[in-house]
Amino acid sequence: MSSSVLGLEGLTVGYDGAPVVRDLDLEVGPGEIVALLGANGAGKTTTLRAVSGLVHPLEGVVRFGGRDLRKVPASARARLGIAHVPDSRGLFFGLTVAEHLRLGYRGERLDASVAYRYFPALEPLRDRRCGLLSGGEQQMLAVGRALARRPTLLLLDELSLGLAPVIVESLLPVVRAYAEESGCGVVLVEQHIELALTIADRGYVLSHGELALDGSAEQLRSNNDLLVSSYFGEHTGLFAGEHSPER
Ligand code: ATP
Repeated sequence: MSSSVLGLEGLTVGYDGAPVVRDLDLEVGPGEIVALLGANGAGKTTTLRAVSGLVHPLEGVVRFGGRDLRKVPASARARLGIAHVPDSRGLFFGLTVAEHLRLGYRGERLDASVAYRYFPALEPLRDRRCGLLSGGEQQMLAVGRALARRPTLLLLDELSLGLAPVIVESLLPVVRAYAEESGCGVVLVEQHIELALTIADRGYVLSHGELALDGSAEQLRSNNDLLVSSYFGEHTGLFAGEHSPER
């Protein structure tokens, strides 16, 4: 019986039968934030999609709380407690903040109070249409909506896309607080490496679809040259195997 929230075992996934991520092993423990790093096109988004069930593995297993998700469709994964905030944010410009926090997928019930508790700035914006929110407010809503589903696994794709770093710097501690208070595991895909490794416990670097390096956030932060060269696949796996998702 695994104590991890998420376990990827030899995950190979891609499109039209062509793999873009190969043989990836990755674990996320309860309350842990794991950064998934790598250059453009390395396969980070595809990995998240495989976890939430939007693409299907060619090989390998995705485990959630030890359970093999192979036969579990995306909608059921969402109901099991996997929340995915895509880089497009998945919001509806014509709907208000409150409507976003009311509308569950296929009868799913959201708890808007969780979103307002973690993002109090959303409260006075309840009746504002999403299209009139700033980029930072929209991102708050996207993450707040995911938290309103009280997930046990949160997948965050490029929170910083199109936002000033200072805005993301204020969002990430909220994610950290939710993870610590709820035991939710988090996978954070982020181009902004420094920011990601400031908030994450551990990190994995993908290069051309393969695991190039993994280790604690501190190890990765303190070896910047290695980190950068791992992006190009020039160094592999120095810290591999040293991680421990159990907390
Ligand atoms: P980025 O930071 O640019 O989003 P990424 O690391 O998230 O990069 P992915 O979006 O997972 O990378 O893309 C990995 C590879 O898969 C890329 O070569 C991309 O062109 C390809 N790819 C992504 N989506 C599709 C798709 N729907 N059909 C075919 N190929 C795709």
